[in-house]
Amino acid sequence: MSIANCEQCGRVILVNFDKRCKPCAELHLQETRKVKEFVRLHPRASIMDVYHQTGVSLQTIKEMI
Ligand SMILES: [Zn+2]
Repeated sequence: MSIANCEQCGRVILVNFDKRCKPCAELHLQETRKVKEFVRLHPRASIMDVYHQTGVSLQTIKEMI
């Protein structure tokens, strides 16, 4: 286990399995669900469509692809 900065908010965290602190990890999980649901309903949507419709950051969307 080592110390690093949260990938998202920069807070110092103990790194074990995630690169984010707990609040950011939870937010990320919610955003992931939102994107998955949107893509399921709109299979032909582009990354930009997903971005504009869900409000999830491009970085998060690209991580999922
Ligand atoms: Zn964070």
